Amino acid sequence: MKTFCGRANPTTGAMEWFEEDENYDYHQEIARSRYADMLHDKDRNTKYYQGIRAAVSRVKERGEKAIVLDIGTGTGLLSMMAASAGADFCYAVEVFKPMANAAVKIVEKNGFRDKIKVINKHSTEVTVGPDGDMQCRANILVTELFDTELIGEGALPTYEHAHKYLVQEGCEAVPHRATVYVQLVESKRMWSWNKLFPVHVEAEDGEKIIVSPSEMENCPGLPSVCDIQLNQMPSTDFTVLSDVVTMFSVDFSKPVKSASTCYRVQLEPVKSGKAQIVLSWWDIDMDPSGMINCTMAPYWVKSTSAFQWRDHWMQCVYFLPNEEPVLQGEKVCLTACRDEYSVWYKLQKASEEENKADVRVESPVCRCQAHLLWNRPRFGELNDQTRMHQYVKSLIKVLKTDSVCLCISDGSLLPVLAHYLGAKQV
Ligand code: SAH
Repeated sequence: MKTFCGRANPTTGAMEWFEEDENYDYHQEIARSRYADMLHDKDRNTKYYQGIRAAVSRVKERGEKAIVLDIGTGTGLLSMMAASAGADFCYAVEVFKPMANAAVKIVEKNGFRDKIKVINKHSTEVTVGPDGDMQCRANILVTELFDTELIGEGALPTYEHAHKYLVQEGCEAVPHRATVYVQLVESKRMWSWNKLFPVHVEAEDGEKIIVSPSEMENCPGLPSVCDIQLNQMPSTDFTVLSDVVTMFSVDFSKPVKSASTCYRVQLEPVKSGKAQIVLSWWDIDMDPSGMINCTMAPYWVKSTSAFQWRDHWMQCVYFLPNEEPVLQGEKVCLTACRDEYSVWYKLQKASEEENKADVRVESPVCRCQAHLLWNRPRFGELNDQTRMHQYVKSLIKVLKTDSVCLCISDGSLLPVLAHYLGAKQV
């Protein structure tokens, strides 16, 4: 038997299918595809190296041995940086077996066998003690467990556990802290990935408007983050309604709490408009002073940030449950809620905010089914007026009053269009 594997063509970006043997090792597939982009992120690598060198120096200045715990070592890169920086010993923990195997080989090949111990376990399974995986708790904690949403790969529970069981109190952490930023915007383009807009159809007997049912209008959509390259988004595609503000930050050198929580900020709209979208990104400070900073800020916030191409960390688009009119200068309150793995947002008038009974904001769950049927690009496609117009024009050409249409499709609007344009039966 053979099996098909989907793979992105590196030149065109298109997904292509390859036939592989039934014994094909899927682990290698995942390992190859996921790590390369991150390893080529020079800005990230340079800053990690600077941060790690600074942390090792601080520990050495205190006259202590530098014992590093690198959670999620991948290829072993950050542990090798630590060893190069003079760390006395590194525990490199990696849960993904093919990666842990690779790390063993890479560490060996680079001559770090005596300094780095690769542990093929999830960090929460790691034991400390004379017979344990680690001889003692570490005093430097190095990780790179972040996704575009910062916490989506489970960084918070991993840190929470590590502080309780694997590192010393007062340890150095690289990165030292992460900060999540938000900005409120109005954007017809981005909103079109979440809501179905009314479709205007010029039929022979006048204009008709197809509207979505109220269930769809009021549906909060999906909880999964919409991650995009905001640096590719022309400034004409959105209107900034607020300044950039800090939503929350996490100090990784102190015990971390992963339990669900909410954060609240007051925003003073810089412009009147329809608040639809919260744009968000984060940065990490590799050291306590904040001098070594790696940022995902988009071009209109930090003009140099677009220079580093990275696909492994992009920016987040959060859809508010409903669009809310805001007035310039009239304060509103933005609430971010998170569980262990994801974040979602709600906007309230500042006066409503007094009513704190309302603070537990439900995670968005699609109630209308449309968000389960159509992904975000598909929503955008269905809302594309030019595209819709072409379909309407073509349908008008072929439809007669006695037309009986058979539509073969998954969740397209064609049957509705055909009906509105006068087909006898669809
Ligand atoms: N540190 C490497 C790789 C980062 S990717 C680098 O910076 O290049 C994150 C890695 O962490 C993945 O290989 C993933 O399998 C691993 N990982 C995530 N959470 C983990 C955990 N709690 N314990 C062990 N490995 C983990």
